[in-house]
Amino acid sequence: MFSKVLIANRGEIACRIIRTARRLGIRTVAVYSEADAGALHVEQADEAYLIGPAPARQSYLNSEQVLAAAQRSGAEAIHPGYGFLSENAVFALACLRAGLIWIGPPPEAIRRMGSKGDAKQVMVDAGVPVVPGYHGLDQHPEVLLQAARTIGFPVLIKPFAAGGGKGMRVVRDPGQFHDALAASRREASSGFGDDRVLLEKYLNRPRHVEIQVFADRHGQCVSLFERDCSIQRRHQKVIEEAPAPDLDPATRRRMGAVAVQAARAIDYVGAGTIEFLLADTGEFYFMEMNTRLQVEHPVTELVTGLDLVEWQFLVAAGGPLPATEDDLALRGHAIECRLYAEDPANEFLPQSGRLDHLSFPASSNHVRVDSGVRPGDQISIHYDPMIAKIAVWDNDRPAAVRRLRQALNETRVVGLATNAQFLDAIAAHPAFQAGDINTQFIDRHRGDLLPEPGLASDEVLTLATLGVLLDRAQRTRAEAALSADPFSPWALSDGWRLNDVAHDLIAFRDGATERQVRVIYRRASYVIDLLDGTPGGERDAWGELLADGTLEAEIAGVRLHATLVWRGHEVTLFHPGGCHRLVLVDVLAEAVGHEVAAGHLTAPMPGKVTAVLVEIGTTVTAGQPLLVLEAMKMEHTIRAPAAGTIAELRYGPGDQVEDGAELIVFAAE
Ligand code: ADP
Repeated sequence: MFSKVLIANRGEIACRIIRTARRLGIRTVAVYSEADAGALHVEQADEAYLIGPAPARQSYLNSEQVLAAAQRSGAEAIHPGYGFLSENAVFALACLRAGLIWIGPPPEAIRRMGSKGDAKQVMVDAGVPVVPGYHGLDQHPEVLLQAARTIGFPVLIKPFAAGGGKGMRVVRDPGQFHDALAASRREASSGFGDDRVLLEKYLNRPRHVEIQVFADRHGQCVSLFERDCSIQRRHQKVIEEAPAPDLDPATRRRMGAVAVQAARAIDYVGAGTIEFLLADTGEFYFMEMNTRLQVEHPVTELVTGLDLVEWQFLVAAGGPLPATEDDLALRGHAIECRLYAEDPANEFLPQSGRLDHLSFPASSNHVRVDSGVRPGDQISIHYDPMIAKIAVWDNDRPAAVRRLRQALNETRVVGLATNAQFLDAIAAHPAFQAGDINTQFIDRHRGDLLPEPGLASDEVLTLATLGVLLDRAQRTRAEAALSADPFSPWALSDGWRLNDVAHDLIAFRDGATERQVRVIYRRASYVIDLLDGTPGGERDAWGELLADGTLEAEIAGVRLHATLVWRGHEVTLFHPGGCHRLVLVDVLAEAVGHEVAAGHLTAPMPGKVTAVLVEIGTTVTAGQPLLVLEAMKMEHTIRAPAAGTIAELRYGPGDQVEDGAELIVFAAE
């Protein structure tokens, strides 16, 4: 076995490879771009080398720099992870020529599977069933159209050199064929520098079932069973599981045998994946082979108990496979989902920026989190916006689905929009739970999976209010402890007034709606009355706010818990039913998490001023709207903290403001 490996990758997969290397006593070398100087994989590796600026082309895809780092560090082997250089046959060959061990298949096998069209021909020759279609070299549009008619519509146009779903077009009607072909070619030639396309029969609601294969240099090749990756959005995997729901053992055996036959046909060595489409007739067809470790390999590890990266190391070092097919067995059920920084409410637009708050469920025999980021890290525009892979295991599929939902509920991200709730909506869907899945699942159930964001439930609003009250009480106690007269009634935050009932009004912005809550202070509790809630719905509430934001509450006699994460005036409340974001608009009272100094009104978060509603010298009443700020796609109204006059206006409409910027100077009466 080699003693030092360079990992030509970043993020979660680099961290995951480091984990196994460390367990096996192999020293690790990371490479990183300028954007990743502070990244987790750099911190975790034994040594790390800067290989270039942020754009991947100049760093993670820069073979010379990667090889130079290998040489300088004295690494004996290179693990490419997935993506980047992992399926680059020229790079694999360059590694071998430089005297390094390439932790991947022979460059020739990569090359032969690198083009979908050529790969299909190889598989046809090897007797592997392929999706009916055309992958010929005559690329004249009329020839292609004729081929499409022979195949029968709908057809799928796919670039020869494909990946990431780029350039794929479904054509349902011959009249649209030429337009779709032209569009596909444009994308293919700009994305891959090769505008050749192949045609396939577009299968109706197939499942994507792939087989993990492993081969060594001694003629052994085994199937490590299947993964079902049917839950896809725009032909990209979102949730993967093993085993495939309701796959009969005979089909599993046949798929495994055909996958091994396919791998043998190209003298494969190492970890590889044969992707099949499984039709509802039970027939399956080769789609493509990925000549590397897959993103979704953890589900296979969870159901086989193996470490695939360890196997990769062993095979690359020339050793035999550690197990034969007879030794291998499936145990239980595993599901993985990909947590992305993306906004489902906005066409899944990738998000970049800071992960202000990030916490994952604790790892256990049932939960595995593969991530390459920490709280406070940036999701960069330069790379894939995946935050983590969350994988769960249990004895059977229903139990695994429950684990998945629980793990998602315990996954908390504040600062960037994520697909966490979308993933949970899939896991919660009756069709998913029944195992009724295929590649059209997300499109078919779109309405159920992307519900319009609703208002906070009464329970959530009550919890948020209680969180605000307890937080205020804590602050006042802390301030009083520091003040000259800690027992002064002025130091109480219980709504105590000289001549008034002890009550208060708190307001939140919930999406575009303002929601008001009346609070009555009791000796040892609060009475919380949601003014827009059920009439007469006052609830007695009490609880404890822990330092980590956990709220242990008792509301109308029921014990509940939630977690509150503050960001300026914005609070994200994570509760057993999901999460909800609210903005505290109550600037009449002291703002939580953000000091509003008397007479100075500051921006609760970075944003843009959209309206100034007053002028210098305007006299205002307490609570009067003064300025509107747009931030986080929401409007925030800055209101007068008391009656007074506007002394200064620091910003005008259209101005960008920083978090905490002083917006208005105000002279209280
Ligand atoms: P890429 O390599 O770009 O990801 P693939 O060839 O792996 O593209 O296909 C991605 C997904 O597209 C598949 O998992 C499947 O959902 C869908 N797909 C591909 N070929 C077909 C087909 N012939 N019929 C129906 N769906 C297909």
